[in-house]
Amino acid sequence: MNYSDIHTAIREWYATNGRHDLPWRNTDDPYIIYISEMMLQQTQVKTVLDRHFHPFLKRFPTLRHIKEAKLDDVLHAWQGLGYYRRARYIYATAQIAAPKLPTDPAELVKLPGIGKSTAHAIAAFSSHRPVAVLDANVKRILCRFFAKKSAAPKALWEMAEVLLDRKEPYIYNQAMMDIGSTVCTPKSPSCHLCPLQSGCMGQSDPIRFPQKRVKKPRPVRYRKLACVRNETGLLMRQRKGELLGGLWELPELDEMETTAEKIGEVTHEYSHFKLVAELYESNNRNLPGTLVTYENLTTIPTSSLEKKIFEKLKLL
Ligand code: SF4
Repeated sequence: MNYSDIHTAIREWYATNGRHDLPWRNTDDPYIIYISEMMLQQTQVKTVLDRHFHPFLKRFPTLRHIKEAKLDDVLHAWQGLGYYRRARYIYATAQIAAPKLPTDPAELVKLPGIGKSTAHAIAAFSSHRPVAVLDANVKRILCRFFAKKSAAPKALWEMAEVLLDRKEPYIYNQAMMDIGSTVCTPKSPSCHLCPLQSGCMGQSDPIRFPQKRVKKPRPVRYRKLACVRNETGLLMRQRKGELLGGLWELPELDEMETTAEKIGEVTHEYSHFKLVAELYESNNRNLPGTLVTYENLTTIPTSSLEKKIFEKLKLL
């Protein structure tokens, strides 16, 4: 099938309706595009734009600045975005690629934490290479356009390649993301406003595509945490490992300590589970960690859970 009419409609739609004002769309610097893509993977455009994108780039204007920083500083600048693995990947990528990120997708996917879609986004938006971007919005459009109730990654990439506008990959990819977030929305798509309508096979009942997976309730995990403190500070330890590695947290309560008094609890939702953190006042100075002064609690990298704990303990 020839999609040239649809490509023309998409270009026209983008000229009138596209979000041209987004700062990562007014640059061809692969580093800036890369940072925006990493932030946008798990975080809404508005949150990224209002709170994180500009402060992060002010602190780390180039990949070289990330390379020369400490991981702690990068994690600290990432605070509030969650999914800290992304910040560690950015740091690891800077150690390999600085001073300049490549723009060839084949080179980009070799770097830590850069998948095919992110590589394609950097390549398409920095150097207008004819490659498709496949974020959650685009996946939904493709399933509806080709009337697929479900599609494995390989099939999604095939559909993305079939529909791609190779003449104007920059406009096409930006437009598809915008159409997904404003027109072909999950619950109420506005097909009458959509530039893909003339070829869309799912428009008679778009909500059927893709078929929703029944979500299982998130399991609940419990942790007992020790609040060991004096008049100057609180005992904290730096986490190791993949999940939240590098962030500071309260140490676990020693289960043998029977005199610790429960002083409250804080809950936090992660992508795969809900955590209930039970807080215990403890005098156990043998727990692993460092006494962090109350003033420094805001300067060390911590997760959103720790922020909630600090608020509960009235430390912020
Ligand atoms: S025509 Fe409707 S279902 Fe098809 S891509 Fe456009 S908004 Fe989505």
